[in-house]
Amino acid sequence: MFPPLHDLAKARILVSNDDGIDATGLKVLEEVAKRLSPDVWVVAPETEQSGAGHSLTIHRPLRLREVSERRYAVDGTPTDCVLLAINHIFRGDRRPDLLLSGVNRGSNLGEDVTYSGTVAAAMEGCLLGVRSFAFSQEFTNGSPVKWSTAEHHIEPIVRRASAVGWDGNVLVNVNFPDVIHQSVIGVEVTSQGKRKLGDHLEERLDPRGRPYIWIGMQRDEDRYRPGTDLDAVSRGAVSVTPLSLDMTHHSGMAALREVL
Ligand code: MN
Repeated sequence: MFPPLHDLAKARILVSNDDGIDATGLKVLEEVAKRLSPDVWVVAPETEQSGAGHSLTIHRPLRLREVSERRYAVDGTPTDCVLLAINHIFRGDRRPDLLLSGVNRGSNLGEDVTYSGTVAAAMEGCLLGVRSFAFSQEFTNGSPVKWSTAEHHIEPIVRRASAVGWDGNVLVNVNFPDVIHQSVIGVEVTSQGKRKLGDHLEERLDPRGRPYIWIGMQRDEDRYRPGTDLDAVSRGAVSVTPLSLDMTHHSGMAALREVL
C-alpha cells in the first residue's frame, strides 16, 4: 500500500524517461517536478530507449555518468535507470517518495503499455516500492509536440492522486491529447484499451540490394471502446489509467481450475 503523500514539498522525486537524457519531454517533467519539491533527481538513459519495454541489461556492465548535480545518465534501459537510482544512487540514503516518468514524445495507449519504456520505468519504480506515474504527450507526425498541454496538467494530477493511498501493485499511466491546453475537455479515469491489429512492415532494399524489414506504425483501423484510454485521448481528454503489476486474470483462474 502506498500511503497518502500530503506534503509534496518534502517529497524526494525521481524523474526518468525512455526518450533519453537530452529529451525535451524530460526537461518539461523536471521543471514541473521542481514546482512540487526542491528535492528532484533525474536518472535517464544516455540514448533513446523507446520500445525497450521492461528490459533489464544483464549481459554487459552499466556506466553511470553524472551530467550535473542530481542529474545522471545511464547507458542502459529505463528499467536500468530506475534500478540504479533507487538501489545504487540512493543506497543508504533516503529513497524517493515519487517516481515520475516521461514526458514521452508520443502517447502510450492500449497495448502500447506493454512495449513502452516510459511505462516500464514506472513499473520498476512501483516494483521497488515507490509511487509511480508515467506521462505521455500524444502528437501528430509533422506537427510540433504540444508540450504545454502536459505541462499544464501534470501538477494537479500528481497532487490529487498522491493525496490518497493506493495499492502497492499499481502505477498510474497518464496520456495527454494532441490539443492545446485550453482545448482539453477534462481529465478522465479510463481502462486500458485495445487497438493493435498488427504493425505496418516496410520491406525495402538496402544500398547493396539486400532486403530489410522496418517495423512502422500500427494500422489505422483502430477501435475506440467508450471508457478506454484510446477513447478519452481521441476526444481531447486527459486519460488517467491505473495499471496493475499483478497481471493475473482472476476469472481465467476459475476457468482453468475447471479443466486442470
Ligand atoms: Mn519514448
